[in-house]
Amino acid sequence: MSTTRSATLFAEAKNIIPGGVNSPVRAFKSVGADPLFIDHAAGSRIFDADNNAYIDYVGSWGPMIVGHCHPDVVAAVKAAADKGSSFGAPTEMEITLAKMVIDAVPSIEMVRMVSSGTEATMSAIRLARGYTGRDKIMKFSGCYHGHSDSLLVKAGSGAATFGVPDSPGVPQDFARLTLTATFNDLESVKALVNDNKGEIACIIVEPIAGNMGTVPPRPGFLEGLRQICSDEGIILIFDEVMCGFRVAYGGAQELYGVTPDMTTLGKIIGGGLPVGAFGGKKEIMSLLSPSGGVYQAGTLSGNPLAMAAGIAMLKLLQRPGFYKELEDKSAYVADGIAKAAKDAGFPIYSTRVGSMFCAFFTKGEVHDWNSAATSDTAAFAKYFRLMLAEGINLAPSQFETAFVSNAHTQSDLDQTIAAAAKSFKSL
Ligand code: PMP
Repeated sequence: MSTTRSATLFAEAKNIIPGGVNSPVRAFKSVGADPLFIDHAAGSRIFDADNNAYIDYVGSWGPMIVGHCHPDVVAAVKAAADKGSSFGAPTEMEITLAKMVIDAVPSIEMVRMVSSGTEATMSAIRLARGYTGRDKIMKFSGCYHGHSDSLLVKAGSGAATFGVPDSPGVPQDFARLTLTATFNDLESVKALVNDNKGEIACIIVEPIAGNMGTVPPRPGFLEGLRQICSDEGIILIFDEVMCGFRVAYGGAQELYGVTPDMTTLGKIIGGGLPVGAFGGKKEIMSLLSPSGGVYQAGTLSGNPLAMAAGIAMLKLLQRPGFYKELEDKSAYVADGIAKAAKDAGFPIYSTRVGSMFCAFFTKGEVHDWNSAATSDTAAFAKYFRLMLAEGINLAPSQFETAFVSNAHTQSDLDQTIAAAAKSFKSL
């Protein structure tokens, strides 16, 4: 498999774009490889600039739940583009998508669109602070909520991959207001709440952690957070940028039956275009400008192309049996990979919720950042390279989630398992 065109493009990009990429994890730095430059994608497959095809489990880091270039989504975007790509004025499509989101997500009575997950979480936190009049926030070690200053503290994902949990450029005074608890550990939450009585505006959590690999919530964890927040007047924010519309149409809150006060969304609701959203109780959301005083805005917010893509995407997800089919495919491939590892005598810890899964290169169970961090990242890097050579595109870090789409065919899944079996044998 030749990747010379990608190599040429990477060399050129490095001169003019920091690290050659517009988002760090794309650089493949932690897996000891050079990045692939992508030319196009279709269904379950992504094609690099040398026209090599890969079965894709990155799916643009989550949005591509129906596969790449679904004809309904493409047609919707084309039709919207014909009418104008941005007006900076309200459109009917914004109402349509808002209604779809409100109908789907239990906690959302009102919603505002933004252009990225980062904006969604940043704005939700500002609103929680404005609503409560408190300054401190709580997050969990290994959870990633985008790169805004307050949230780039003990973050997972690229920040974990690159070992910079606290980025230079984040003022100490900001980081000081961000308390960090341990995922799946209610005692760590209670201790911080007790030490900061009446000072915490919100607790933000990925209800299914997807940025330290995939780490499901333990039974009772989300319920416990709900209780603590209700008791203490703290706003509970579920960051469902990744798991919203993925693990169920109503997201993790539907799956686990725990309703937060606010929810952030992204990825899938934009159908692959730049979209994020945050929503929640009317009482809280009404404080947003212009109905209230908490300021938040965006030139491209509610962009017509993005709204069209999102509406088309959600319609596809409403088809009967969609999530059952996805669950079956995901269980098949995740179990197949775990079995391949076991048969090869190579220990992994396999996690999965719906179509999010991860093979942790650990001997022990993974339930929080510290246990995830025991992974053998060098072995993972080798596995990643072996899989890529077999035509399987995994996320280039141990601390990421693999995403299955319903465009993955039985033969794709079998090919993936066979590639994993071969790779584990050579590890
Ligand atoms: N929250 C979560 C849970 C995420 O996974 C991500 C991105 N991976 C974000 C927020 C940030 O979204 P974006 O990259 O669109 O800014």
